[in-house]
Amino acid sequence: MTNPQLSVVIPVYNEEQGLQALFDRLYPALDKLAISYEVVFVNDGSRDRSAAILREQFQKRPDVTRVVLFNGNFGQHMAIMAGFEHCRGQRVVTLDADLQNPPEDTHLLLAKMDEGHDYVGSIRRQRSDSWWRHVASRAMNGLREKITRIKMTDQGCMFRAYDRNIIDAVNSCQEVNTFIPALAYSFARNPAEVVVGHEERAAGESKYSLYSLIRLNFDLMTGFSLVPLQWFSMAGMLISLFSGVFFVFLVVRRLIIGPEAEGLFTLFALMFFLIGIALFGIGLLGEYIGRIYQQVRHRPRYLVEAVLEDAAKTKPKRAKKSVAEETITPSLFSDVQE
Ligand code: UDP
Ligand code: MG
Repeated sequence: MTNPQLSVVIPVYNEEQGLQALFDRLYPALDKLAISYEVVFVNDGSRDRSAAILREQFQKRPDVTRVVLFNGNFGQHMAIMAGFEHCRGQRVVTLDADLQNPPEDTHLLLAKMDEGHDYVGSIRRQRSDSWWRHVASRAMNGLREKITRIKMTDQGCMFRAYDRNIIDAVNSCQEVNTFIPALAYSFARNPAEVVVGHEERAAGESKYSLYSLIRLNFDLMTGFSLVPLQWFSMAGMLISLFSGVFFVFLVVRRLIIGPEAEGLFTLFALMFFLIGIALFGIGLLGEYIGRIYQQVRHRPRYLVEAVLEDAAKTKPKRAKKSVAEETITPSLFSDVQE
């Protein structure tokens, strides 16, 4: 068997209402491209009928459909990661299951790749998100670009195309907390962006709350840069310098004017401000350390319950292993067994 030219990877989490509409638009759009393709759905532990619907779809189009079923919710980026591990296309396009990215625009990404780019991001022509997502993303984009030097005009848009080289590089990473577009970007030789359409969510609700967006952005900042820590050291140095000058000022003032008792509350205000900064610094350190901790535990990043694929199309040379087996290093256990 030959590998398809295109793999489309789609994470699915509680999308039962929108999946049929997705199939109805996705498959015709891909058929129209007139290239060999496969669609890899990753069910991220949905608690609704999504898994059953994906099964049905697999039975309808087993030739071009593969379904990876997680046995829990491991998050969108882990789902995409699993999709990458299970896809075989020469190029890979990631897409949201909620039809916010029109599948008909896939050809725009591929056309850009034909020009020699190995990574094609996308910019939403007109975002159909709520206003606070809009404002929040713009602010985050600016901050992220400063901190991580990763230039993505529209980081929130998952509709992206990657070349096989990049997919292989991403697959070799064992990061627990990651942000796929940024990770892939850091491997890209010649990235580019195109403008694509954006629509309202077809059905259901966004799976991201403000809280999970903040978490995601912490992953992005800490996962790709040490700059936040360096900023903190800088701030610490500035404040020490300032307090040194202040101390000298107080000594001189005491010698000239004499002892003083006023200014107590100013001192409090100053103290609280500095305590706030110190706590934030500890929290920031914690973000890094927590991630180091998660990483060194070597737990499986996700667990695959089953992979639905056409038996005839299974790659003979690479036996399908769940990542659980891959990530636990045997050396950890060898002492115990001996
Ligand atoms: N998703 C997922 N696991 C999660 C959350 C989301 O696989 O824990 C999928 C979801 O099914 C969708 C995509 O990730 O296909 C984007 O999610 P959503 O549309 O809720 O995010 P938004 O468009 O609001 O950023
Ligand atoms: Mg969405």
